[in-house]
Amino acid sequence: MDTHDRRTFLKYTGAAVVGIGSSGCGTIKRHDVSDSDGIAVRIETPGEPLVLRTFMILKDRIEQRCPVRVVQADTGAQVILSVDDCLPHDAFCIGQVDEAVRVTGGSPSGLLYGVGKFLRTSRYDGAFRPSSWRGTSVPHGSIRGMYFASHFHNWYHQASDPEISRYMEDLALWGINAVMVSFPGINLHSWDDPQTGPAIAMMRRYAKSAGDLGLRFAIGANNMLFMDIPDHIRATRLPDPLRRRGNSGHPVCPSHPEGHAYLMENFGHLLEKFSDVGLDILCFWPYDEGGCACDKCQPWGCNGYLKLSRDLAQLGRRFFPDLKTVLSTWMFDTPPESEWQGLADYMSSGGEWIDYILADAHEDFPCYPLDVGVPGKRPLLNFPEISMWGNWPWGGFGANPLPARFQRLWDQVKHVVEGGFPYSEGIYEDINKAIVVQFYWNREQSARTTLEAYIAYEFGSGVSEDVLAIIGILETTAGRSYTKQPVDADEVRRARQLADAVNARLPDWARQNWRWEILNLRTVLDHERFAGDGLETPAAEAAMRRLIDLYHCQMETDDPYHHRVRPPLRGTSSRSGEL
Ligand SMILES: [Zn+2]
Repeated sequence: MDTHDRRTFLKYTGAAVVGIGSSGCGTIKRHDVSDSDGIAVRIETPGEPLVLRTFMILKDRIEQRCPVRVVQADTGAQVILSVDDCLPHDAFCIGQVDEAVRVTGGSPSGLLYGVGKFLRTSRYDGAFRPSSWRGTSVPHGSIRGMYFASHFHNWYHQASDPEISRYMEDLALWGINAVMVSFPGINLHSWDDPQTGPAIAMMRRYAKSAGDLGLRFAIGANNMLFMDIPDHIRATRLPDPLRRRGNSGHPVCPSHPEGHAYLMENFGHLLEKFSDVGLDILCFWPYDEGGCACDKCQPWGCNGYLKLSRDLAQLGRRFFPDLKTVLSTWMFDTPPESEWQGLADYMSSGGEWIDYILADAHEDFPCYPLDVGVPGKRPLLNFPEISMWGNWPWGGFGANPLPARFQRLWDQVKHVVEGGFPYSEGIYEDINKAIVVQFYWNREQSARTTLEAYIAYEFGSGVSEDVLAIIGILETTAGRSYTKQPVDADEVRRARQLADAVNARLPDWARQNWRWEILNLRTVLDHERFAGDGLETPAAEAAMRRLIDLYHCQMETDDPYHHRVRPPLRGTSSRSGEL
């Protein structure tokens, strides 16, 4: 490894301006560092906890990738972290000040996003080579969320505090500014259930971790809280003739006076649990876990659902006066029953309690907001399903990158959508998360551009073309398998060979990264499934055991839903059956 004294840090020059926005941040230089003295970072607003946290994140990610120390120093700085409220709140600028690279955020949050860009555009091939990207970047989307479906004993449900905290840091570096978690009432009998306390504690940990990173914290709300409810207040089951809305959970009829009282009282108890850690966004959800088809509630989406959501919004604002609300229209008019039109009629003379409208579907985006407009002209959010399509169990065979699918879906809506909450069941869709969050940041950034940035940052230089080819084969294979078309076994073998070749070239830090592991394991399992002898080969079973370990799955479980998120390894079981 080359060694230089600290002053040589900034001598490597010559890269061009890239990126979006203005480039009024100074001249362009490129630098090389492999300095045993370390990298000096000056923090210009050290009193801000999130600025200091951002420095710690920068230090950790560089030191993870390079044998170099990153130290805080007031003199001789090679990197400067600063905040300037002349920039928009979440925006950042990366520029040059004499021989140092300065990352400036419009706020501590903007600085964190800028450090994310700086890290992704730096290089780590033995020596640290700081980013040559210069420019200003302003996010387009106002809510760049992520929905952690924290249930079924999936990774979000099981991960330790440090794991959750680190993963939220990683996603914040990509630009998220909000996280939503769900109360796993689908798994819980009542407040007295021994699992209820831990579930609340889990949600509070997410709230605290989000708050510490400057992210907004959101929870979902619907007409369901627990499994054990009096029979006479149970909702009327949805007909769901197209089998798209789901009938999970144990919903309550809010048109029944006792049902309404039950929901308000118990939801109030739930809100109280967040009174000290804060709640920023309440997201109302119509179907799957939710809905009622009784005469007084139907059509649910523009009737019982709106009345209940309005009452829950009022209740929520008693606890949190600045609470924002998102009204989801997921699976409205599936089948058609004038729910969209009913919502538009409602909002033409009211609905002031609704701040955002969320729309999406299992496949293509709903037509109504595209063709007619968003009811009440509210900002429109989407809810891309990044977890389930083309793989079952979800994440059961490793990573599920689907860049072409999400590019296609984004192109349908990028002119109207202002952010969203992708639906996530675990860490296996990490690539999809990065792609979608970067769409929210810059609606014109292609999935391929994000993928290239992801590969360079997470796997290092020199493997981009091969990893892109692997991801392309995995996505094609998933699509053909999902639509019951023949899978190209030669391509599956090629992906496996490419993964072996990449694996041999990766630096240790990348080879040991779970992100590479889950991608590599997916090529193993696709090979065994589609070009080998199936899922009971030693290679397949070893791959699934490793995934079970990474996801913190339970080999034996009492959770009737856990099999949905657990690799299908022989010998795993669900003691109380599977739903
Ligand atoms: Zn009802």
